[in-house]
Amino acid sequence: MAYIEQILSIVETLSPPRYSQLWQQADGSYDNTGLILGGSGETGTVLVCLDLSDPVLDEAEALGAGMILTHHPAIYRGVKTLNDRSAGGRLLQRAVRMGLTVYSAHLSLDAAPQGLNAWFAGQCGLREARPLKQLEDGGFLYLGEVGPMPAGSYAEQLSAAFGCPVRRSACEGQVSRVAVLNGGGGSLEFVHLCLEAGADGFVSGDFAHHVFLEAVREDLAVFEIDHYHAEQTFVQTWTERLNALAGEGGAKVTFLKSQQERCPHLLCGGERR
Ligand SMILES: [Zn+2]
Repeated sequence: MAYIEQILSIVETLSPPRYSQLWQQADGSYDNTGLILGGSGETGTVLVCLDLSDPVLDEAEALGAGMILTHHPAIYRGVKTLNDRSAGGRLLQRAVRMGLTVYSAHLSLDAAPQGLNAWFAGQCGLREARPLKQLEDGGFLYLGEVGPMPAGSYAEQLSAAFGCPVRRSACEGQVSRVAVLNGGGGSLEFVHLCLEAGADGFVSGDFAHHVFLEAVREDLAVFEIDHYHAEQTFVQTWTERLNALAGEGGAKVTFLKSQQERCPHLLCGGERR
């Protein structure tokens, strides 16, 4: 067993909360990285996942885990009630009843030097990757070289790396200088930042129709890896890095990747024009 304080210090060594604050200052976004529930006592097992859910709580119960570490904040925006009338209220009340500690490492994990965006750049095959938005020794929106290769071939490479289908803009040129941002970076703002940086490709998730239209107009090869697969693939690596740190410090705690977390969407149907 290890004290929660000791476990939090391991987590925050990999994803220091100051990166969340630096990102917020850089783009004005709101985050809720940090301790969400509980925070005292000790446990020998921490379950690691992207999102808090009932299957993850079932798993924590079965394993006797005293703490859950999520990437997406278990509470994001302000909560005014915590009652039985909503699924979110029931979920959080259950976690409280179980006496769990829940910590969320969101933008802090994204932007840390050993964090999600740096890893994502490697998964996307970027060479000489550097963050366009530098935050100390980390950052986000990595830019690097790939290929040059046809956009279709790069899409296939990404699909193999992440184990999921890739949606791309209808641009048939070559890609060589690519910017990448894990999660929901598919906004016009980021498309324009990529163009300003001289990128001919952009990999992210959560692209809206009008963003694809803009990418086609600008002849930017945009590649969408859905938010879940882009980040879920990292949970295994994150868990291994946390266990290595715990081992180095002699902390008697094991981080386990959730086996019950599931993608919240399915792909159905056939080819369309
Ligand atoms: Zn995300």
